[in-house]
Amino acid sequence: MTSLVLLDQALRLHDNPLLWHTASANDSSNTPRLVAVVCLNKAAFFGQQYGLARASLFRLQQHLQLIADTKRALAGLNIGLVTLFGEPAAEISNLAKMLQANLIVAATPTGYHEQQTLVKLRQHCPVSTLDINSLLGSAQLAPELNRLPDSFSAFRKQREPLLQVAPALATYQPQPGQNWFTPKESAEFCENFSQLAAFSQPSRQPGSSEQLALQRLDDYIWQQQAISYYKTSRNSLSGDYYASKFSAPLATGCLSVRYCWQQILDFEQQRLANDSTYWLKFELLWREFFRWQFRKYGKAWFSKNAIKGQLDFSRPDLSSCQQHAFNNWCAGNSGVPFIDANMRLLNATGLMSNRGRQNVASFLIHDLGVDWRLGAAYFEQRLLDYDVASNWGNWAYIAGSGNSGERQFNVIKQALSYDANGDFVRAMLPELNAPGNLIHQPAPGIKIPEHWQSWLAKLTAHKL
Ligand SMILES: Cc1cc2nc3c(=O)[nH]c(=O)nc-3n(C[C@H](O)[C@H](O)[C@H](O)COP(=O)(O)OP(=O)(O)OC[C@H]3O[C@@H](n4cnc5c(N)ncnc54)[C@H](O)[C@@H]3O)c2cc1C
Repeated sequence: MTSLVLLDQALRLHDNPLLWHTASANDSSNTPRLVAVVCLNKAAFFGQQYGLARASLFRLQQHLQLIADTKRALAGLNIGLVTLFGEPAAEISNLAKMLQANLIVAATPTGYHEQQTLVKLRQHCPVSTLDINSLLGSAQLAPELNRLPDSFSAFRKQREPLLQVAPALATYQPQPGQNWFTPKESAEFCENFSQLAAFSQPSRQPGSSEQLALQRLDDYIWQQQAISYYKTSRNSLSGDYYASKFSAPLATGCLSVRYCWQQILDFEQQRLANDSTYWLKFELLWREFFRWQFRKYGKAWFSKNAIKGQLDFSRPDLSSCQQHAFNNWCAGNSGVPFIDANMRLLNATGLMSNRGRQNVASFLIHDLGVDWRLGAAYFEQRLLDYDVASNWGNWAYIAGSGNSGERQFNVIKQALSYDANGDFVRAMLPELNAPGNLIHQPAPGIKIPEHWQSWLAKLTAHKL
């Protein structure tokens, strides 16, 4: 008997029930061969949508690094990692056939396309899934999709009182009697993947992706105790400790959300419980909400009106003027300093604060009149914390096609509230030269929405 253990979305050794699950499924009389596998989806990293590349080189490099780190960590336990590259259903079913696998074990996906991969795999081999990246992942907590509320508040009220998140599992160690494919045995199946070596990152911080994620968590919660003021700092636009920065490792799966949750509870019990510690859990519930919403509505999330109205998967239609505005928005050249500063940060680092994301999304959709799906596609390309449910769900939310009515932000008002003296804009757009919050003045020739006028009148050369 041979089982493939698919580690996509589960490239970690801490709290990884996929590894333990197979261990506990063992029966000493018939020890299965266990084969750890990961498949880099060619379309998701090299494909296009609406004429935009689906992933930046930066995001590809981050993923290759994560795979390389996990491969090294597993090799330290004498476990091989078969690395595949191509169309996941075809590559994995081909491997299953070659190895005569009788079972595939995988993380329960949230996105429609990832779910479809498992549907296709089931035509070749039984597939068993474990929801290892959700707070409500256990069978007792999992919501029934047909009774899942579509508003976050209703979801939170329904779920919060019952929320006994399962404790995280220990860092994995091979169990006696387990029979993993070794690094040497795995090597012969990795030929296709080796062509990706050319894209690997030349240098980076020391430590594996998983170690860095766990260090960040320890630093943010325990060393700096920045969690204790999270509620007041979370709307900042930049800095080391204004927010947790857990999103990228959570999105790639090298950090367990259950472990994060447990660490917050431990901090609350051992050090301090306040509005801020609660608020970090509240935000993790937002993540959770979108995961279940994606499972509920599937591919509708990629339709023009998302979960509202008729399905319409036609390509976004732009006038030449909108196309020009969209290109400038992407490049951080819209002429609206607060928008451009945030977009330049995204382009330079692959990240942006939540406040920034809300503003640039609202500006693109409501002020420039561009189809929200183009913004979501551009974010998908750039964001190092790209997560299908959190990204497309939040974009649809702001457009008013998701779990709320339209959310339009007044960009000038927001700039004055969250970058009162223009320091963030000044740091990101050094070519601008204006005193005080006059730095937020849009460039000449920019079409000014009516609702900005009264806020533009408040701009002054003096420091506030
Ligand atoms: C248009 C738009 C697109 C977004 N795209 C993504 C995305 O692709 N991936 C992603 O992880 N988040 C996305 N977010 C949500 C949010 O902006 C990021 O999770 C957050 O900025 C990441 O920084 P942090 O880890 O420091 O967050 P913190 O403020 O420290 O929050 C802690 C965690 O809670 C979760 N979280 C916080 N806010 C949200 C939210 N609004 N929706 C869902 N989860 C949330 C994240 O897992 C985050 O790591 C998007 C938001 C908007 C408005």
